[in-house]
Amino acid sequence: MTVGYHPDHKILEKYATGDLGVGISLLVSAHLDHCEQCSRHVSQLTADAVNSFMEPVADISYNLDSELDQLIGSIDTEVLNKSSVQREEDGKVTFLDKTFTLPRSMAYLASKELNWKEFGKNSRIAPVETTEEGNLYFIYLDKNEEVPQHGHEGIEYSYVAAGSYGSQSDIFNTGDFSSFDSQIIHTPKALSDDGCLVISWVEKRLNFFTGIFSPLNKIMWWYLHKA
Ligand SMILES: [Zn+2]
Repeated sequence: MTVGYHPDHKILEKYATGDLGVGISLLVSAHLDHCEQCSRHVSQLTADAVNSFMEPVADISYNLDSELDQLIGSIDTEVLNKSSVQREEDGKVTFLDKTFTLPRSMAYLASKELNWKEFGKNSRIAPVETTEEGNLYFIYLDKNEEVPQHGHEGIEYSYVAAGSYGSQSDIFNTGDFSSFDSQIIHTPKALSDDGCLVISWVEKRLNFFTGIFSPLNKIMWWYLHKA
């Protein structure tokens, strides 16, 4: 089953309570900038979480104001200001003759040196983060190019950063969030004239040799991660 075009309630709930992994959180956060409906849902969930957290301590007398003053005093505001400026400047990723603006939540990744690998005629994939929990990829599919038909051994989460692609009868546009599980067998194909940039998070416990756009065997895995 495709669980798209929005993160489901469970994912949003975990996001609101901070229980979602960093990788998926990046994709969810990007989607929230695009989707008022999910954004409102998360605000409500966050408010609920805060309320249920605050209730048990509500009748304990506690000097919250002075705690807050101390906390704010200890934050290095100069560092905060610097990082927000950098984010605005650095949100662009360029390769070949293409330039894409990354979602706000991932703008910091633009300063990373990306190792783009070719697949198809003009398509590219770059591993962005490799962690214990999973791997983050940028996947560029050129117009009308597709990934050979494949299935998944587990869930892969994706966010469309630019353009659109089709997967069987579904069409995913910029801002859409999706997840594909083991029941899906498909042939994703870029539909937009300027190609399509997809950002995918693949959990480590899954077999990441097969994934939505992912390259499909161990040789490909080696190819992707060699320097
Ligand atoms: Zn949504």
